[in-house]
Amino acid sequence: MRVFRAPGRVNLIGEHTDYNQGLVLPAALDLDCRVTAKPSRWPVLTARSVNLGLERTWPLTSFERHGEWSDYVAGVAVELAKLGVRLPAAELEIRSTVPLGAGLSSSAALEVAVAFALCGLAGATLPPVELALACQRAENDFVGMKCGIMDQFVAVLGRKDHALRIDCRSLDKRPVPLPEECSLVMVNTMVRHELAKSEYNRRRQECEQAAAQLDRSLRDTTLAEAEALPQPLRRRARHVIGENARVEQFISAELDEKGELMYASHASLRGDYEVSCPELDFLVETARGIEGVVGARMTGGGFGGCAVNLVRSAAVPEFSRRIAIAYRQQFALEPQIYACHTADGAGELGN
Ligand code: ADP
Ligand code: MG
Repeated sequence: MRVFRAPGRVNLIGEHTDYNQGLVLPAALDLDCRVTAKPSRWPVLTARSVNLGLERTWPLTSFERHGEWSDYVAGVAVELAKLGVRLPAAELEIRSTVPLGAGLSSSAALEVAVAFALCGLAGATLPPVELALACQRAENDFVGMKCGIMDQFVAVLGRKDHALRIDCRSLDKRPVPLPEECSLVMVNTMVRHELAKSEYNRRRQECEQAAAQLDRSLRDTTLAEAEALPQPLRRRARHVIGENARVEQFISAELDEKGELMYASHASLRGDYEVSCPELDFLVETARGIEGVVGARMTGGGFGGCAVNLVRSAAVPEFSRRIAIAYRQQFALEPQIYACHTADGAGELGN
């Protein structure tokens, strides 16, 4: 029996830029997906999700799509097989502490942990970036979620005590130390509006349209050039261009300015990119008024999920108490709060 893990992540800044060849700054978290793998006596792959209490089995030669959680597992198996990995007959037990569908990337944690497990049992080693790309293709092509490379990349290559500046065009990465005096606190809205997946794919299309009309990547477009676009493409491009700049600024900024850049990122995601929601806006506005909060913004695709807060460590307990009270009063929902540490990227436990 072997155990493999892959972390969830929080993106500090650089949202909806990865699929525009842009810049992102995620950190791997100490919330993770663990896959306990053992060989099977039959030529099948079985996956059991302890979180969902569900199980699926596939013959090793054909992976059916079911339109549900197991597609993430089957998609990874299919992509690894395409790369020449001889799929092992195995039973995988999946247990995740990353909240599902909350913008902390439980999906990439699942994909990457499964990929490590299958490669581990098969005795195959893939270059880390190849493995991340295979997991992204699994989500793009098998699950049908047209996500960028950020989540899978940081789940594989994240580094404890650091965020990772990823250039999603060159796939260059650079670890960036996190501010020592601060903690990352994620507050979960506990909602996920229906629009999340369809609007994500629509934003991606809109950005592709904008790039096609300008005849260049949004990475290389200036704000002045984006003015030529019709709405809503102009607003979408304006977000992406501004957000790439904010990633660079955030890395070199003093602490207070980092916070302002997070608020500016949120305002842009709400106004120009239109992927926020009342619950996220409320969390960010409320956080802004609480002592010790440096900055806050929505994180992940939007339409629900989590807000990320950069909070002075001494202020975390009082922050958590106050934001929970305010949110409960406003929405009659109990927000889950994760005061996280960062972690390294995926690997086998005990190694
Ligand atoms: P996020 O990645 O932000 O958590 P996604 O919608 O991208 O949100 O992925 C969430 C989906 O991933 C879940 O609805 C489920 O289908 C799948 N998933 C993630 N973790 C698990 C798990 N431990 N067990 C089963 N399915 C999981
Ligand atoms: Mg996801």
